Parts: sequence; C-alpha cells; structure tokens
Amino acid sequence: MRLRGDEHTDLARASRNRMLANALVAAFAAAIFAPLIGLLVVGPWACALAYLLYHSRQTDMLLVETGPRLGPATLERRQSLNSAALAGCWASALLIFPWLSGGEQQQALVLIAMALMASSTFVFSTSPLSVLIYIGIVGTGAIAALGLDGQWQAMGGAILFTIACLVATIEVRTTFVKARLAEAALAEKEEVVSLLLREFEENEADWLWEVDTARRLRAVSPRFAFALGQPQGEVEGKPLLEMIAGSRWSSGQFPPSLHDLAERLKNRENFSNMLVQVSILGEERWWELSGTPMRDEQGRFTGFRGVGSDVTEQRKSSEKIAYLARYDTLTQLPNRLQLTEALGEALRYAVQWRTRCAMLMVDLDRFKAVNDSLGHMTGDKLLAQVSARLQSLMGENQMVGRLGGDEFAIVIRDASQSGTVRDLALRVIHRLSEPYQVDHHTLYVGASVGSAEGPRDGASVEEMMRNADLALYRAKDMGGGEHCRFEPELHATAEERRQLEVALRKALGRDEMVLHYQPVVDAHSESVVSFEALIRWNSAEHGFVSPGKFIPLAEDTRLIVPIGQWVMRKACEEARNWPEHVKVNVNVSPEQLLEPGFHDEVVQALAASGLRPERLEIEVTESIFLRDASVARNALEQVMALGCSVALDDFGTGYSSLGYLRKLKFSTIKVDRTFVQGAAQGSAESLAIINAVVAMAKSLQMTTTAEGVETGPEAELIRKLGCDKIQGFYFGRPMTAKDASSLFRMGRELRA
Ligand code: C2E
Ligand code: MG
Ligand code: MG
Repeated sequence: MRLRGDEHTDLARASRNRMLANALVAAFAAAIFAPLIGLLVVGPWACALAYLLYHSRQTDMLLVETGPRLGPATLERRQSLNSAALAGCWASALLIFPWLSGGEQQQALVLIAMALMASSTFVFSTSPLSVLIYIGIVGTGAIAALGLDGQWQAMGGAILFTIACLVATIEVRTTFVKARLAEAALAEKEEVVSLLLREFEENEADWLWEVDTARRLRAVSPRFAFALGQPQGEVEGKPLLEMIAGSRWSSGQFPPSLHDLAERLKNRENFSNMLVQVSILGEERWWELSGTPMRDEQGRFTGFRGVGSDVTEQRKSSEKIAYLARYDTLTQLPNRLQLTEALGEALRYAVQWRTRCAMLMVDLDRFKAVNDSLGHMTGDKLLAQVSARLQSLMGENQMVGRLGGDEFAIVIRDASQSGTVRDLALRVIHRLSEPYQVDHHTLYVGASVGSAEGPRDGASVEEMMRNADLALYRAKDMGGGEHCRFEPELHATAEERRQLEVALRKALGRDEMVLHYQPVVDAHSESVVSFEALIRWNSAEHGFVSPGKFIPLAEDTRLIVPIGQWVMRKACEEARNWPEHVKVNVNVSPEQLLEPGFHDEVVQALAASGLRPERLEIEVTESIFLRDASVARNALEQVMALGCSVALDDFGTGYSSLGYLRKLKFSTIKVDRTFVQGAAQGSAESLAIINAVVAMAKSLQMTTTAEGVETGPEAELIRKLGCDKIQGFYFGRPMTAKDASSLFRMGRELRA
C-alpha cells in the first residue's frame, strides 16, 4: 500500500512530463505532416490526442489526490485505457499519415514514435502496466507501418527496439520497486529505533549520551544534562571527560575507572556496563556506562553513542549491605559472620599444616551494671573503648570481633607456640580491667576469657565456639577476671546444669520445694521481730540443692517467676500462724519485679492469707537498680503503697552506690554477712562500713539488720555498733514452718 502511495506521489510529476512530451512531439509531427496531407486530417488527430492527453492527466491527478485508498483499481484500469487510447492515436498516425503522404516523412514519424517509447520507459515508470500497453501499441503501430511499406530490415529493427523497450520497462520497474522497498524498510527501522530510544529515555534514571570524534558532548538530552548537573545548553559541545572528572580534570589524576573510560574512548573501543566513578558538582557518584563507536557510510569514525545510568544509590546500598553483613556497626569490628569465617579458615589451615589455631571468647564483667545504671548510650561508648583496646592488642594473624552484647571473640590463626593463648588472654583481661573514662564517669569493668584450641578442642567452627563458650562460662562462674581453657569435663558441668534445669522445672509440681524460716531478733530485747522465708529444694534426682545454686539458675531461665509466686503465697499463709507483731521477710528477685503482674501477685497473696500488709517485708538486693531500675522501683512503690515494707538485702556487696538509698524509702538495710564477719575479725574497713551504714540509716529513718551473726561476741559487737536487728545462726538457723510456729507456742508456754 505504501509503495503504491509513493508511486502515486511521483505520478503528478511524471504525468505532466508525459503530457508535455506528447504535446511537444505531436506538435512536431503535426508541423511535418500538415503541409503534406492537409490540416483536415492532422487537425482532428491533434484534437483527439489533446483530448486524450487531457483525460489521462485528469485520471492521473485523481489517482494522485485520492492516493491508493479510493478505488485505485478502477482508476488504474482507466489509466491503462487512456494509455491504450493515446498509443492507438499514435499508431493510427504511424499508419495513416505516411500512407496519405505517399510514404514521405515516414522515417521521421517512426523515429518520433521510438523516442516516445524510449522516454516513457524511463520517465514514466510508476504505472508499468499503462507503459507496457503504450509501448506495445505504439511499437506495433511502427512495426506495422514499416511492414506495410515493405521495409523489412527497418521493421526488424523496430521489433527489436520495441522488445528492448518492454524489457527495459520491466527492468526499470523492478529496480524502482526494490529501491522503494529498501527505502521503506530503512524508514521503518529508523522509526522503531527512535521509538525504542524514546521509551528508553523516558524510563527511570537512564539516559543516552553521544560524543563526537573529539569526545565532546553532542545532542545532549535533558535527562543527561540533569545527570551532569548542568543546563542542557551549557554542556553541549563540552568534553565529556571534563564534565565528569570534576576537580581532577586539571590535575589529570583520574580514578582508575575514569581512566579506563578515557582509554576506551581514545582507542574507539566498544564497552558495556562499565562502572565509572564520576564527580558531579563536587559530589562523587557512580555511573554505569555503555558505548559503541559510530561510523558513517564510508566507515569513518564519527564519535561514540551509548547509554548510561546513575547507580550511586544502588552501589552505596550494596556497599553498605556488604559492610553490614561483615562488620559490627557499633564498634566497627568484624561481626560474628566474619569471625566464624576466619575461624573456619584458621581450622582448615591448622589441619593442613598440622599447627594449632585458637578461639578466645571474651565477656565483660559487670557491663550490665554500667548499661543499666548509666544508660545504653554510655554503655555503647564503653563498648567502643573496649573494642579499641582489644584491637590494639591484636598481633599478626589475630582477629578480634564482636559477637553481640558485651561478648567479643578473638581468632588466632597460628597458636602453635605454647603460651600464646594464655598470654593474650591475660593481656586482654589486664587491659580491659583498667578504668575507662566515659562521659565524666570513671568506669570499672573486668573481663573473663574462655578459650578453645583447634583442632584439638573442636573439629568444626560450631564445636570450637561452643567449647570456648563453655570455658568462658566457667571463667564467669569463678567470679570473673579469669581465663579458663576448655576441658572436656566442662561438658559434664554444662550437662549437669541442663539436667538441673529440667529438674527445677518439675520441682514445684512435684512438691519438692519447702520454705524454711530464719528468725530476726531485736538487737536489744533479743525477741523475734520477724522471720525470713528461705527456700529449700530437695530434688528427687539431685538431692538437697542450695538456693545459692538453683536461684541463679531459676533467674536465668525465668523459672523464678512461678517459684517466687509460690514463695510469696506460702510465706504469707504461714505468717498467719505467728503473733501479730512478727513480720515475714520474703526475698524477691529482680526478674520478679520486672514482671507486670507483681503487684497483683502480692495483693492476692495477702488477700488469700488475710495477712496485714504491714507484716510483709520484701527483700531486694541492689541488683534491682542495675536493670530497668524505674520499672523495679515502680513495682516496689506500688507494694509499699499497700502498706508493705521493703528491705535492702546484702548491702555492700553489689555495684554499690549510696545513691540507691535516696531513690527508694527502704525500711531496713541488711548489712551483709561479710562485713559482720570482717568486723568480728577486727577489720577496720568493715567496722567503718557498718558504722557508716548505721549512721546513714538513722539519718534516713531506716533500721539496720546485721546478717550472719554466728557467735555471742559477734552479737555483742553488732549491738555496740548500733544495728537494730540481728539475724544469724547464733539466734537461730533457718527452720521448718512447724518449728517456727512452735517457737511462739513454747514462748507462750514458758511465759505461762
Ligand atoms: P539472703 O537473702 O541473704 O539470705 C540469707 C542467707 O544467709 C541464707 O542462705 C541463710 O541461710 C544464710 N545465713 C543466715 N545466717 C547465717 C549465719 O549466721 N552464717 C552463715 N554462714 N549463713 C547464714 P540461704 O538460705 O542459702 O540463701 C541464700 C540466698 O538465696 C539468700 O540470701 C537469698 O538471696 C536467696 N534466696 C533464698 N530463698 C529465696 C527465695 O525464696 N526467693 C529468692 N528470690 N531468693 C531466695
Ligand atoms: Mg534475704
Ligand atoms: Mg542477705
């Protein structure tokens, strides 16, 4: 269809030419023959020809106007008829004119006909059928005229000429069609390409770029100009490299990727998805560029064209992801992933070269206290300092990283020299135990280290980590500030602990727990003022287990919550059997206070037993201030509002700070047994501490209880020091509930 359209566009010009040529030739022929055969013959012939020419022209113009759409078949048929008529007109002239003129000027007419045929072959190639008809008829006319005249040679020549013209018409036509088709295909291709490019340009952050032979920017698109950070007009014609090299342009010190790009451009080499570091308005960015050298029809290089996109954000985020995956953000130390990789690598190396590698687990002592009392910000700063110290201790083939929280690990690739591990562990403990300055605070934390050596203590990364962890656990158990190496027995200890935990979970259900009560007496009257409820566990599997052992385990596993509830109810229940003035002291762990239902628990225990709240004293240790202090304080204030009192237990053993005493209105401070024993042995320090606590308690209207008084002289000393109450084996060991209540019955009986 399009081809037809193109032909018809050509038709306008071709038809005019044909008309002019025919008219001109007809006038010439008429001029020759009019004097010979008279105007009477030539005149009508010329008129008929003129009419036919006019009619053809009309048809042609109709075809041009309507194009290929409106009834082309009919118009084309008409065009062919016109051609035939026109040719017939000429053929009749060829036959009739020489006959009338007696053969005179016949050759001139035949030559004219041939000229017409030849010219229509080339000039009027757009409507081949009509041309073929035209040539066929005119040619036949000429041949017939020559034949009738008996000019056989000339007739042969005319036949050959006619055939040649017909063939040439077909040939010209074929060439024309081929050329047109090629042209059309090219146009279509260009259209598709530009469509694709437009789409590409409109899509996201990509742009097209183009440079000339001197690598100057050409045809800069708005988007590319935006990427360059400058108005479109200003970048046009500027050297590409100058635009993207930033301040480095003058120095010529390009980053490697930019240098690479410059090389490629210079060498006219193709490149794709090349990552180039560019500088746009002073900002470092990353572009991904592809480019192809362009050539013109003669194969001359005309510049580069390509696509590009800004991949800075993707790169940044992928860099960041890669970094985050391998480094701890807080301390910038390698993280667990990198450590385990390093350990795996060290293990392989050790096995291959029959050497030894090592894994050290480092855990800070008392870090929690800092974190909880001074806040996470301070804790984080402390961790950063710890990391820096650890890093400074690392030698060749040693890597320190953070596992999380206050736990660090060190991988030693080659620990074959004896003493390497121990040496490093001691240096770590020593260095980390030195005081820290954080936010105007001087902080003291220690460190415990557990180590395992591979492949002896573990063939796999997991095993090494687990065993080093067990050793660390042991070091912590020993009170911190220690280094323990892994020993196979540690597995047994861990296993024992696990079994203990299993048994502890069942203990309450199996009724294995009982409460014992230890009397607290008035220092002067020595009469019982209260009993402290102390839990006892007689396990079916483990026999009698000391609370010093299972309470920490219960706290770790949060089993302390149900156990504590049970203690609270049981103790209140039991206290109902005692005289009204005797209180009951119940120990409460920090974990219990953090539990949202603590207050309700106390209310229920009191309600169920009918015990007056004033008779319940809760004992807490300083450790409640080390974690979520405000939550614990709120919980305690709530129960104090009920009328209960709160005692501060084991005073002087924790992360001591007298500041706690101001935060909560304790009724009693219990001075830890260590000071009582110390004072009894004449330790000036212990004496001073007890004196100070007593004085302070008095000024804050609190009472004091001395714990762990075992002998008469100790009781005497304590009394002298001014403590209000005394608790200890001297006045009574923890006893069964029955024994405790019988104490009063005995008293009554005695009094009676
Ligand atoms: P605590 O609250 O300081 O209890 C006093 C501990 O000192 C008791 O140890 C008691 O038997 C012991 N004691 C008392 N007088 C003397 C003495 O004259 N000499 C010596 N050597 N020791 C004396 P116990 O019963 O082994 O309890 C240890 C710790 O377990 C308690 O220390 C307390 O913190 C915790 N605990 C006990 N029962 C419970 C409980 O029901 N809940 C919670 N959360 N903790 C409890
Ligand atoms: Mg206590
Ligand atoms: Mg105590």
